Amino acid sequence: MKEFMNNQTQPGDKLAEIIRFSRMIGDPQSDLTILAEGNTSVRTTEDRMLVKASGANLYTSGEQDFVEVDLRMLMTLIKSGPASDEHVTSALMEATVGGTKRPSVESLLHAVCQQIPGVTAVAHTHPVPVNALLCSDKASYLMQGSMFPDQIVVMGKAQLLIPYIDPGLPLAQEVLARLAAHIHEHGSHPKVIYLLNHGMFALGSTPEEALQITQMAVKVSRVMLGALSVGTPTFLAPENADRIHTRPDEEHRRALLAKF
Ligand SMILES: [Zn+2]
Repeated sequence: MKEFMNNQTQPGDKLAEIIRFSRMIGDPQSDLTILAEGNTSVRTTEDRMLVKASGANLYTSGEQDFVEVDLRMLMTLIKSGPASDEHVTSALMEATVGGTKRPSVESLLHAVCQQIPGVTAVAHTHPVPVNALLCSDKASYLMQGSMFPDQIVVMGKAQLLIPYIDPGLPLAQEVLARLAAHIHEHGSHPKVIYLLNHGMFALGSTPEEALQITQMAVKVSRVMLGALSVGTPTFLAPENADRIHTRPDEEHRRALLAKF
C-alpha cells in the first residue's frame, strides 16, 4: 500500500477536488456516463496526477477510488514503443505513488493529456449523443467546422478525431503523435479529443472547464443529430468563426468560464 501523504503535494485538497469533479461528471442527471464508465484526472504537481482507479463508479467514488501516478514514468512507457500487456500492467503499478488500487489502462491517455502545459483537469466520458455520431458514418461532420458561436467560446475551433484503436498503450501512443501534429498545425492543443466508436476526452484548466467542455460537446452532438435529421449541417463561415475565436469580449468570457 502506498500512502498519499508526502511533502510535495497537499493530497487532501486535491483528493477532495477530484472527488467533487468526478461526482459532477458522473451525476446521473447529466447522463454523461453510466455504471463504472468514464474517468477523471487532476494534476497534483508538475509531474504527478490523481486518476480514477479501475472499476470505480464516478458518482459514488470516494478517496479509495483514486491513485496518484508519476507522469514522467508513464510518458517514458508511452514513448518507448510497443510493450506486452504484462509490462504495461507492471509499469502502471510502478508509476503509482499514492493510493491502494490499480490505475486503469486509460490512465495512459490521461497522462498524454495532462503533460500538455495548461491542462490540469481531464474528463473522459461516453455520452450517448456524442457516441451516436462517433458510432456512425457521420462522425467526420464533428471535424468540419463550428455550428454556433458558443461552441467556439467553450471548445475552440479545432478538435481532434482519433480512429478506433485498442485502448491502452497503442491508443495513448497514437493520440500523442496526433496531438503533436495538431499543436504544430493550429498553435494550440484541442480541448476535445473524440475517439471513434468509444467516447471523448475533455481537456480543461480547471474541473469546471472540463465539465463545461463535455457539456458543450454533448450539445454540439445533439444539434448535429437534429441538423442531420432534417438535412445537412451548415457551419459558420471561417471568417465569422475566426472573429468569435479572437474577439476580446469572447476571450474575457472564456477566461471567466474557466474560473467559474
Ligand atoms: Zn472509455
